[in-house]
Amino acid sequence: MAEDILRLLIRAGHIHPEAKIRREDEHILIPVTGKPGPDELAVLPGADENITVIETEFEPKRKKPSLEKILGFSPNFDVIGDIAMIDADDPDATHIAKALMEYRKNINVVLGTVSPVEGEFRTRQWVVLAGEHRTRTMHKEHGCRYNVDLADAYFSARLGTERKRVVDMVNPGEYVVDLFAGVGPFSILIGKSVPGASVVAVDKNPGAVKLMRENIHLNRLDNVTAVEDDARHAAGNLEHSADHVIMNLPQSAREFLDCGILVAKSGGVVHFYDITHEDDLYGTSWELILEAAARMGRTVECVGNRIVRSYAPYQYNVCIEFRVIEY
Ligand code: SAM
Repeated sequence: MAEDILRLLIRAGHIHPEAKIRREDEHILIPVTGKPGPDELAVLPGADENITVIETEFEPKRKKPSLEKILGFSPNFDVIGDIAMIDADDPDATHIAKALMEYRKNINVVLGTVSPVEGEFRTRQWVVLAGEHRTRTMHKEHGCRYNVDLADAYFSARLGTERKRVVDMVNPGEYVVDLFAGVGPFSILIGKSVPGASVVAVDKNPGAVKLMRENIHLNRLDNVTAVEDDARHAAGNLEHSADHVIMNLPQSAREFLDCGILVAKSGGVVHFYDITHEDDLYGTSWELILEAAARMGRTVECVGNRIVRSYAPYQYNVCIEFRVIEY
C-alpha cells in the first residue's frame, strides 16, 4: 500500500527530494514538502485508516558521487551485461576498476583488454581486473536477451543503434541471410521483431554459434536458423534467395563481396560493412562492389552510404547498402 501512496504523492509533486524514506515498526514514513490538504488525501487509497500526517525529522538522502568526482577524471569504459571493459594498459586501470565495482551497482566484473579485436573470429584477450572471474554475461538489447562470452565470440554493444536501423529496413515476411552473425544480434532482433520474417544466420566460429543457438532458445524463436559454416561455403547453398544479406565483418567483408551478391535475390539488398579512410569513405568500396557484381553477372544500385562509427584515427566503420538486380 505504501508503494501506491508513494506513487500518487510523487505524481502530485509532494515528495521531499532530499529526505530519505524510512520504516518505523509497521509504518512507512514518507517525507513530504508540505501538509497535503484533505482533498488531496481523499484521493489516496484507504486514506482514512492508513495515512497519518505527522511532524518528524528525516535523514538527508546520501547522494551517490559520480565516477568523475571519485576519480578526478572521466574514465573510458564499455559495458556488456554486468561486465565493464577498460584498457588494461591504462595507467589508472586498477583505480577505474575499483571505482566501477564500488559505485556502479550493475557491474560485477571488470575486464581489461590485453589485445585488439583479432583473428578470423574477431575475439580479444582479457584479464580480470576486479570482481568475479568470468567473461560470460547476459546482455539485453532492444528487448532481446543475449548470452555473450567475450573470450569466445565477438560482441559490441556499440552497434546496437546500427542493428536497429538495419532491422527496421526488413519488411514482414522477408527472408534474411546474416553471413557473419556472431552470437546473433542482427538475426535474433529480426526474428523477434519482424512478423513472418525468417533468418539464416551463419558463423564460422563454433563458440559464437553455440551462444547463438542458446540465444535463439532464450528468445523463444523458431524462425532463426544458426549455421556453423564458412560464409563462402554457406553462400553456395543459399544462391539468389535473400531479400537482405547482412555482411558485418568490416575488416574483411571485401573478400566476400561475391558471396553476398550471390546470396541476394533479384531486388535483394546487401548491407555491406567496411573500414575506410576519411579521404576515401566510399569510393574504393564502391569500385570493389561494382567489380564483384560484374564478376557475378549482376548489376547493383546504391541504396545508401553511411558512417557507422569512428574506428581509428582517420578511419571509419561504414555501411554501404546496395540492391542487386539481374541483367
Ligand atoms: N554480426 C555480429 C555482431 O554484430 O555482433 C558479429 C560480427 S563480428 C565483427 C564478425 C563475425 O564473423 C565473427 O563472429 C566471426 O567469427 C565471423 N566470421 C569470420 N570469418 C568468417 C567466415 N569466413 N565465415 C563465416 N563467419 C565468419
